[in-house]
Amino acid sequence: MTEKIARFFAEQTPSTPCLVVDLDVVADNYGKLATAMPDSRIFYAVKANPAPEILRLLVESGSCFDTASVPEIQYCLEAGATPDRISFGNTIKKAGDIRIAHELGIDLFAFDSIEELEKIAEHAPGSRVFCRILTSGEGADWPLSRKFGCEPEMARDLLIQAAGMNVRPYGVSFHVGSQQRDLKQWDIALATAGTIFRACEEQGVILSMVNMGGGFPTRYLKDVPTSQAYGEAINDSLRRHFGNRLPETIIEPGRGMVGNAGIIQSEVVLISRKSANDDKRWVYLDIGKFGGLAETMDEAIQYPIQTDRDGPAEAVILAGPTCDSADVLYEKAEYRLPTSLKIGDKVTIMATGAYTTTYSAVNFNGFSPLKAYYI
Ligand SMILES: *Cc1c(COP(=O)(O)O)cnc(C)c1O
Repeated sequence: MTEKIARFFAEQTPSTPCLVVDLDVVADNYGKLATAMPDSRIFYAVKANPAPEILRLLVESGSCFDTASVPEIQYCLEAGATPDRISFGNTIKKAGDIRIAHELGIDLFAFDSIEELEKIAEHAPGSRVFCRILTSGEGADWPLSRKFGCEPEMARDLLIQAAGMNVRPYGVSFHVGSQQRDLKQWDIALATAGTIFRACEEQGVILSMVNMGGGFPTRYLKDVPTSQAYGEAINDSLRRHFGNRLPETIIEPGRGMVGNAGIIQSEVVLISRKSANDDKRWVYLDIGKFGGLAETMDEAIQYPIQTDRDGPAEAVILAGPTCDSADVLYEKAEYRLPTSLKIGDKVTIMATGAYTTTYSAVNFNGFSPLKAYYI
């Protein structure tokens, strides 16, 4: 926990659950990514945390923005980003939203099917388009599966087809899966991107850009490589697959930009056992899956959890406060908390700056959405 966040908790004693984000950490993450990948433009994936304070800071730092909806585009414009710094990166868009984005001046659109490409050509004529390719998601703690992207052969055909439509075939994109701890995954995707570039060029279609997506990790329970290590691995791969004809590149970090900047403070509501000789205690917090910790689904993201108690620890099952049986955070992951932990104690959930506030339900079971402070 940063000193600034610790001081905020001590002086303000906010009611729990709440998230506190240290904007200095976001600025530091931006700086580290920009230094590690000096030749790539950064498009922050707004969905990770769209707070105006974060967007304004990133606008001032020089960041661009990857958006998935008209409201996200508007958040970026309101924070001061000009339309040339915003991409509409969702491959699933309503025709009307494409038209609005185009009217707002957005000129960079993602697609992964002929149907979407036709929509863009009709409603955002003259725009630059990039085709997203499928990746395996292997090595990622939060894979994005087969929902986005198409097979490389289809991407090639669509980009060639795009050249004859009212759009500019601009490049290829991929996302290797979120919280991607395997650096080799970028190499696999870049090899495919290189093949598509050459196949298009043979047909007279010159592509310009590779969008290397997100996937840059936050440190949770397990260690992760540094931004520098990612930068070096990706640069090596770019040279291997594109030689000295390097394309323009962009990256779209979400989690890696804001994850470690936020801390959630919560409170123990109940500690109980299911039988007199139950060997595990159930610890119920005032935050759960519906209050912002949706990424604990299948125990995929394992947040470090701390308390002010010390002494011996024992295995616990951690659960949220709602009357929904899906609202169990960790049962298999073997979390251990101090035996001296009591009802009413504060529990700190680390590295929760990404994918929490916007994942919290509006009023499920009467619980308020996650309150957040940006300091
Ligand atoms: C969600 C998303 C990102 C951000 O992914 P992270 O793993 O959080 O970095 C980047 N690009 C696209 C297209 C996305 O949908």
